[in-house]
Amino acid sequence: MKLLTVVGARPQFIKAAMLNRAVRARADISEVLVHTGQHHDTKMSDVFFDQLDIHPPHHSLGVAGGSHGDMTGRMMIALDPVLQTEKPDLVVVYGDTNSTLSAALCAAKFGIPIAHIEAGLRSFNRAMPEEINRVLTDHLSSHLFCPTESAVENLRNEGITRRVENVGDIMYDAALHYGNHPAGISRLSPTLRLLQESGGYILATIHRQENTDHPNRLERIVGALLNVADVYPIVLPLHPRTQHRLDEQSLKRLQSHPSIFVTDPLGYLEMLQLERRAQLVVTDSGGVQKEAFFFRVACATLRDQTEWTELVDHGWNTLIDVSREQIVDRILNCYGRAGEAGFSPYGDGRTAERILSSLISG
Ligand code: UDP
Repeated sequence: MKLLTVVGARPQFIKAAMLNRAVRARADISEVLVHTGQHHDTKMSDVFFDQLDIHPPHHSLGVAGGSHGDMTGRMMIALDPVLQTEKPDLVVVYGDTNSTLSAALCAAKFGIPIAHIEAGLRSFNRAMPEEINRVLTDHLSSHLFCPTESAVENLRNEGITRRVENVGDIMYDAALHYGNHPAGISRLSPTLRLLQESGGYILATIHRQENTDHPNRLERIVGALLNVADVYPIVLPLHPRTQHRLDEQSLKRLQSHPSIFVTDPLGYLEMLQLERRAQLVVTDSGGVQKEAFFFRVACATLRDQTEWTELVDHGWNTLIDVSREQIVDRILNCYGRAGEAGFSPYGDGRTAERILSSLISG
């Protein structure tokens, strides 16, 4: 069986690495990797190929930037001839980015079956570009690999029940596999290494469009982080979008606070090490919310809703509406908090093998 996997954004490289590893262990499946170019620089792309030992892409489409429609359209134009030449048995897509949707649309037009990994997630907020991408991709897919039971239920509520499987979360496979990698520590700067050893800090990431593209929300988040850092140190790896959106003054205020450690995006191995020793993760990332839980670290999510509702229901994650008062107190309240012990909704770390077995068995 020949798979053609389309990736383009940071979290997709991590998920695809685990499937790629499982494919390489089998003789009955081959994989062609296509990189759309959505994330393309060293820190958002190359570092993941190096650290996770992913085969260089067979096709690099070099599509980045532009509006959502423009980017999605250009990806489709570039993908069409690749699908025609490669003639895969199945196209594999991950998550909810423009790369996901463009590949699903192209494959569907050629009548090539689509496997969607991380299917069935919903925020029920159609203002999020990711929500549009995931809903449409699910409705085009022929194999829907869900990470949780609630994702299966979301699909059922939309009338999708054929070839829907709860296979667990492939990001959990990755966190188990790479969570103890020694390079994760050795690659940290000396300051961050000391902090990581001490364990008394908050790790924060902000990049969702709903936060970065609304200057008032972004300013409120910056203000909150500055106040929280008066109490606990914060490590803040800045996503390129956030770097661009922060005005010069806000960036300077963050960088000049003695307890805020602003960095460029980190490699995956370093990120895992910082997550595992933090007392609190503050984020609007989907993947980082779960990784906090994989290491049983409390999480405060700066969004009005989450796709990973089970973590909120079981006390590991707290949603914080940044437009309301007392953000600082609410964040501080989460520090060091533990949710329900023994709760384990994301499978057993063998999601990649389960997906391949399912594909092979037809
Ligand atoms: N990540 C990373 N370096 C960073 C920030 C995040 O390696 O500086 C990893 C993180 O550990 C997780 C993934 O990137 O595995 C999450 O990606 P992101 O937050 O960009 O996207 P989302 O999960 O929100 O779609």
